[in-house]
Amino acid sequence: MEARFAIIGDIHANLEALNAVLEDARSQSVTGFYCLGDIVGYNANPQECIDVVREIGAITVCGNHDYYCSHDKSLEDFQPLAAAVIDWTRRQINPASAKWLAELPFSKIFFQHSFSIVHGTLDMPEYWGYVFDTFDAEAHFNYQQTPFCFHGHTHVPVIFEKQGFDVKRYEATPSGERVELKFGRKYFINVGSIGQPRDENPLASYLIFEPRSRMIEFRRVEYDVQTAAEKVMRAGLPQRLAQRLLVGR
Ligand code: ZN
Repeated sequence: MEARFAIIGDIHANLEALNAVLEDARSQSVTGFYCLGDIVGYNANPQECIDVVREIGAITVCGNHDYYCSHDKSLEDFQPLAAAVIDWTRRQINPASAKWLAELPFSKIFFQHSFSIVHGTLDMPEYWGYVFDTFDAEAHFNYQQTPFCFHGHTHVPVIFEKQGFDVKRYEATPSGERVELKFGRKYFINVGSIGQPRDENPLASYLIFEPRSRMIEFRRVEYDVQTAAEKVMRAGLPQRLAQRLLVGR
């Protein structure tokens, strides 16, 4: 059977969204899972989401929230909202899970399948830079050794394409549309966020990748947003985190 991978990321402790995505991915007969990090942070089920990601055997890289929730580091560089949730999350996850998060690598390369994964950018991944535009993407491409690389961090699905010295930015294609990536170019693709989309589309976002045929397919999945939002409120987390789930911002 041809390899058909689900690339998931920015789950952010949203168990309802994660379960819906996994159900969708299984209905699409994926053969493996890769996770771009930020399993925890923002929503109410960090421990449960770590358990699920480990159960499905997803090959995982570290996100900034995973890192700070598992290291006893100052949170002064975070916005107050994010810092409050990281502080809360640290108290929700068990020591074994904290250790697992703390040991996640910043990036991984799979030469046999021509791709790599990173949370934000391969340009010093441990500094958690955001790639929004072609300028940021150019800096990243200097470090991309494989034709394809997948990332998250901005929570906005998008495609960067490098041909020669030219870098272009393309909007993510509509859910369920299969796209063939061109041979001889490099691609840096943001798969969007499962647990807290910010592209004004509240549906959970992930991507299916077939390395041999170079096909990708963005997928948006409906889930029980109401329950996820109510859990955020009940946990005593900032109300704004519940509201933004409903609007995808
Ligand atoms: Zn994130």
